[in-house]
Amino acid sequence: MDSTFPTRAIILNRHDWREADRLVSVYTPAYGRLTLLARGARKSASKLAAHLEPISLSRLLVVKGKGFDYVGSALMDEAFLNIKQDFNKLYFAGQALQQFSALVHEGEADPALFEWLEKWLLNLDSVGENNLSKEDGRFRLALFSWRLFALLGYKPELQKCVACAGTLAPGKNTFDFARGGLICSLCAEQSVEAAAKGFLLPLSDNCIKLLRLMDGEITKNIKFSPRLLHEWEHLNIRLYSWFQS
Ligand SMILES: [Zn+2]
Repeated sequence: MDSTFPTRAIILNRHDWREADRLVSVYTPAYGRLTLLARGARKSASKLAAHLEPISLSRLLVVKGKGFDYVGSALMDEAFLNIKQDFNKLYFAGQALQQFSALVHEGEADPALFEWLEKWLLNLDSVGENNLSKEDGRFRLALFSWRLFALLGYKPELQKCVACAGTLAPGKNTFDFARGGLICSLCAEQSVEAAAKGFLLPLSDNCIKLLRLMDGEITKNIKFSPRLLHEWEHLNIRLYSWFQS
């Protein structure tokens, strides 16, 4: 006996399955991330395929199956056409969804995460009409990663030393991946083993200031140097691989 349920879904990615089908990975408000079978989606006459393109928001009817649950019907609500027509927007949206897919697992539903992802995509779609600068794209992606970590429960401690709970004085503060936040210069000196394992990353004062700012509400465009953006991106890449391992 089949049962069905309707849901809104952001299409994350898809890949070919068997001769004519596709497996589609989606994120939904009430059921979290799902992998669904789209029967016949590779056939040219498929009515489903167009509504299941990655970087789209669709309304699905999901049918419970014996193996995979499958898509009974799909109707696209939001195609994010400005993203798909702008090379930079498409690139950064693709990167963001790839990170999202790697860190968000099936079986954990979070309506707030859905809402946030939808807003991020809508915002990227509407910004600056059709020309996103590479620099703006990099900033948006860095903020995406940083917020995603926090939403998934990996919010780094930036206010006091995570090792001794002491105050962080300017200069010589270090990010400790194993402890999940900043450590002071004294604790860093004593963390010989962590340093040998590559768990420590020195951060500049300006980068720490920037990160604290990014944890709050951002009301206007923030200008900062390419070097600082690069430092933030480097920390994000390290955090990303830390959470994946
Ligand atoms: Zn300390």
